[in-house]
Formats: sequence, C-alpha cells, structure tokens
Amino acid sequence: MPSPPPCASSARTCACTSATAPSWAELLARVFATDVWLCPHCGGRRRLLTASQEPAAIRKVLAAMRLSADAPELAAARSPPGEIGIEF
Ligand SMILES: [Zn+2]
Repeated sequence: MPSPPPCASSARTCACTSATAPSWAELLARVFATDVWLCPHCGGRRRLLTASQEPAAIRKVLAAMRLSADAPELAAARSPPGEIGIEF
C-alpha cells in the first residue's frame, strides 16, 4: 500500500499532522469553507451545549424547535443544471 503524499498545507497547525482526527468543525471548514461556530445573526461564537445520539431525545429537541424529525423524501437523480440530461 503506497504511503499518503506529504502534507502541502502552509498552516501552522494542520489537521493531517494532528495526533487526533480533525473535528467535524475543522472538516466542514475545510470542505465548505464555512465557520460553523460563527453565529449568522450576531457574529458571536457559538458553543456546543450538548450532543445526543438517542433518537427519542433528538425527536424531542426537534419538536421543541418546531422542526420535522422525519427524513426528507429522496429525490430522483438528475443532471446538474445547465447540462443536457440523459434519460434512463
Ligand atoms: Zn448569535
């Protein structure tokens, strides 16, 4: 198995050289160039209050926030906008 290429990052601290895996916030910042800790309303820093993996607790929180706990319906695959679609 070939070894991965060396890190080309010029950042002082790079997630790929960290002893631990990058956080989800670091991954989102890298992929989507967004700061998930930045509040879009006041510009302040968000903080993590809690995390839950219990479906019942998650449904309760979503209900309190008046958000649906149901997964969205899957849409059929399509060509990107502006491209000629190929019908299957
Ligand atoms: Zn805010």
